[in-house]
Amino acid sequence: MERLQKVIARAGIASRRKAEQLILDGRVAVNGKVIDSLGTKVSATDRVAVDGVPLDKEKLVYYLFYKPVGVISSVKDDRGRRTVVDFFKQVPERIFPVGRLDYDTSGALLLTNDGALANRLMHPSYKFNKTYIAEVRPLPTAEQLSQLANGIHLEDGMTAKARVKLLSSNQEKRTASVQLTIHEGRNRQVRRMFSALHLHVCRLKRERYGFLDLKGLHPGEARELTAFEVKTLA
Ligand code: URA
Repeated sequence: MERLQKVIARAGIASRRKAEQLILDGRVAVNGKVIDSLGTKVSATDRVAVDGVPLDKEKLVYYLFYKPVGVISSVKDDRGRRTVVDFFKQVPERIFPVGRLDYDTSGALLLTNDGALANRLMHPSYKFNKTYIAEVRPLPTAEQLSQLANGIHLEDGMTAKARVKLLSSNQEKRTASVQLTIHEGRNRQVRRMFSALHLHVCRLKRERYGFLDLKGLHPGEARELTAFEVKTLA
């Protein structure tokens, strides 16, 4: 249940204060009955109208977010940790992340209030490519890189073929930077793939989500998708 003035404000009709005035002026009805005092709460199934005109459904919005490390990919956290939605306080729509990145992973994450698109993107049959950069230790061998590309046996089954590229290596520190492109989205999949080969992921970043990359964004920043990008995703 939400306050009536908040629901009106979110629909883009008026600011919350102006919405309160609309209510006090007797211009708002809930389920056909005029409400002219503050304090009413409504649920998603209640029909709200202003001046006899029903509120439109919430506008669909799409954001590409550069998730920083140390943030939870959910709407709420019972342990009070910062969530990705905390970065969107100025956005009135009820957005949520499409899939998730681990607390310790940074990178490209889509947030939207379009449940249908989110379900499509997360469905395994969609085969949407995600590209990660993993800093791993110790240095992977050529054989290990080809195992990553051909599929790794994990406890929830074999992973699909992946694109793998060694970007750089530091012999002294015994670390390497590996680019990995996969279309599956199993829980902690990248970390588990490396771990199965006894390689530890020290740092993980998702640099691309399909055709969307992080160009122009810093950690903690977001941008709205263009209409063309939304059409291409859908
Ligand atoms: N794979 C992981 O291991 N972690 C992520 O956050 C994303 C993919």
